[in-house]
Amino acid sequence: MPPAPEPSYRELALKLLPWICVRCAREFPASRLKELTVHHKDGDHHHNPPDGSNWELLCLYCHENEHARAEDARAGGGGEPKKPPAAHRPLAGLADLLKEKRGK
Ligand SMILES: [Zn+2]
Ligand SMILES: [Zn+2]
Repeated sequence: MPPAPEPSYRELALKLLPWICVRCAREFPASRLKELTVHHKDGDHHHNPPDGSNWELLCLYCHENEHARAEDARAGGGGEPKKPPAAHRPLAGLADLLKEKRGK
């Protein structure tokens, strides 16, 4: 696999935020920083405010769980409605809704 270019928001996030997974509170030294990922709270990877307000650092496991939970919520699988569902394509569902409303 060729090395993917690091998105610059990751570097910024790592500068701003402590190297700790916000879910499991594990700390990550520089040597294991690869296991720490940047999660976008609103699910929009293009929403990168420079103050870091849309970022959370999550370890690989918690990050996967976080997204699995969002998928569950979208599928109507129950679970506690702790956060608004962070859909990665929030507009896709909206477009469907609009289509239905117009009733074609
Ligand atoms: Zn974690
Ligand atoms: Zn994420």
